[in-house]
Amino acid sequence: MAELEGLEFGKSDFVLLDEVTMEQFMENLKLRFEKGRIYTYIGEVVVSVNPYRQMDIYGKDTIDAYRGRELYENPPHLYAVSDAAYKAMKRRAKDTCIVISGESGAGKTEASKYIMQYIAAITNPSQRAEVESVKNVLLKSNCVLEAFGNAKTNRNDNSSRFGKYMDINFNFNGDPTGGHINNYLLEKSRVVQQQDGERNFHSFYQVLVFCSTSNTFTDQKEPPRVFFFLQTSNNDRSSHKAVMNALGVIGFSEEEISSIYQILASILLLGNIQFESDGENVQVLGQEAVKHISELTSTDPDSVTKSLLFRTVATGGGEVIEKGHSEQDACFGRDAFAKALYERLFGWIVSRINSIIEVKDYNPVLHGKNTVIGVLDIYGFEIFDNNSFEQFCINYCNEKLQQLFIELILQQEQGEYQREGITWQHIDYFNNQIIVDLVEQPHKGIISILDEACLSVGKVTDTVCLDSMDTKLSQHPHYTSRKLSPTDKTMDFQKHFRIRHYAGDVTYSVEGFLDKNKDLLFQDFKRLMYNSSNPVLKEMWPDGQLSITEVTKRPLTAATLFKNSIVALVDKLACKEPYYVRCIKPNEMKSPVLLDDARCQHQVAYLGLLENVMVRRAGFAYRQPYARFLQRYKMTCEYTWPNHLMGSDREAVEAIVTQHGFQDDVAYGHTKLFVRTPRSLFSLEQERAAL
Ligand code: ATP
Ligand code: MG
Repeated sequence: MAELEGLEFGKSDFVLLDEVTMEQFMENLKLRFEKGRIYTYIGEVVVSVNPYRQMDIYGKDTIDAYRGRELYENPPHLYAVSDAAYKAMKRRAKDTCIVISGESGAGKTEASKYIMQYIAAITNPSQRAEVESVKNVLLKSNCVLEAFGNAKTNRNDNSSRFGKYMDINFNFNGDPTGGHINNYLLEKSRVVQQQDGERNFHSFYQVLVFCSTSNTFTDQKEPPRVFFFLQTSNNDRSSHKAVMNALGVIGFSEEEISSIYQILASILLLGNIQFESDGENVQVLGQEAVKHISELTSTDPDSVTKSLLFRTVATGGGEVIEKGHSEQDACFGRDAFAKALYERLFGWIVSRINSIIEVKDYNPVLHGKNTVIGVLDIYGFEIFDNNSFEQFCINYCNEKLQQLFIELILQQEQGEYQREGITWQHIDYFNNQIIVDLVEQPHKGIISILDEACLSVGKVTDTVCLDSMDTKLSQHPHYTSRKLSPTDKTMDFQKHFRIRHYAGDVTYSVEGFLDKNKDLLFQDFKRLMYNSSNPVLKEMWPDGQLSITEVTKRPLTAATLFKNSIVALVDKLACKEPYYVRCIKPNEMKSPVLLDDARCQHQVAYLGLLENVMVRRAGFAYRQPYARFLQRYKMTCEYTWPNHLMGSDREAVEAIVTQHGFQDDVAYGHTKLFVRTPRSLFSLEQERAAL
């Protein structure tokens, strides 16, 4: 419960609402938003509303005000939870994490940057050079990751199209010594196709700037004006400069930087390659582009053409033959190649940054325990008009995180009651394990059914796979097939299935699921890249050295790889002390003055915020160390003002509580007072204010 704010700003902790209803929650959220109070607590959870304007609350003065202070000593702020996570890490040697969630445009990435800036600002007071350099690389990595992983979408001009989890390592002094970034499911389909009004990844517009100032398009003064992978061409000079600078500061070599831009240019050129068929043979249209690609990727032009038109296959008898593509296969291959090039480039950039910021030569005996703060900025729950494989993965990820949220929040509460010796009554909450199982259960879940379809020998279509899901899952309470509810006109018999997620119903179109899950890239492209004489490019394609007979016939599918990465992420988070930032997008117009009721209510519902308040209140809504409680309320009781003469602070607090008659509403812990309902505190607050 934060102080220092008058009631005209609303309640700074939702736990203090008179009643936990959507109406009261929204009223408070709205009032605070109107008053420019974008942060509000639920206990230790920060609820943040995107202000869509620059706020004067992130400067040095504010940082100083929050440094080393307790949550309730200042108005709610990201800095307060960052400090809490930092203190827990430093004082108690606890690994902590800050999980930021919310839908696209809600302000997650901005929040993650403020958190990192705060941590950077409060550490290394002695300005040691090696620590400063680590901090610099950590901060600059955001700029590079945004250039390559973000894009303008219809919901957000700078939308992260990947999930990011960053660990920051600290030494016993509490100074950063390094870090590690994990990235999740980059939306690579964007490389070859964007919806109306959206753009490709920022990096592609920046490459045009690079090309016009270098010899990337060797024999051309100007790069081609039209790229089919870019709907509009829009140079982005200042960001390009910032990214170049960041790459340099992080420690990318000249050679690496130019390789990066050569790969980007190759991808754009690939997009300009078309195919023509005379009914028998397929040919490449765009020999110029092929020539440029071979120069940019340091490969042989004939090999480029060949890998675009043929694939090597191993026959049943162990023979290896070359099979010509149909025009359709050639287009599919080209797009898969372009997407894979970008995905590998992104993965390689992340691993390069990781190798630079990796903690080296850390000796726990000499240096004490190496502790970590993790920051998770990952896509929120998505419901679009047309939901595909990507939304399926993202929403599954949110189910996993929601489960963790409930478990950890309850665990944390229980842990505190246990430590303080207080009896606690378990409260029921919706356990979404059943939905997680629907998706991930071995042999029975949706991912298994998809994988089975992808790995079967015959030609299985999306619709056949849907049939199989409908048959196997029809009894599941969170799965709906059109066949079971034939009157539902919003679903197409051939295409759709629906999952009742914890956050709401989502209808998925199965079209393209199998291709996206298979994520097939012909081995010929991998070999082509592995044979490049550019060592940077070669390094990205180690699997290109395998011959077709050595390639595994049952590679892991995209859904399974994603599931494995999310399971590993959840395991990583579960063993840390969690702090949460729940971001809300106030409106669709990017307006700083509008809080759209329906849109916000929906987010409050699916972020489980009311449940969160109830869980918090079902136990003890408010807790405070005896000494602090006394300091704040001693003037309301004759036995404690100006000083108490009792044996302990606890006894003095008991005197205050008894005098105000809410002794049945509290529990006395070893070090803290616990108050069940906030009402008791109101009376104290009012009396204090009246004095
Ligand atoms: P996505 O899931 O699409 O990546 P996101 O939740 O990461 O979305 P952000 O990119 O952080 O959203 O925020 C979207 C935009 O909202 C920012 O580019 C910025 O203009 C504005 N914004 C967000 N948070 C703040 C803030 N605290 N102060 C000022 N503007 C903000
Ligand atoms: Mg983002």
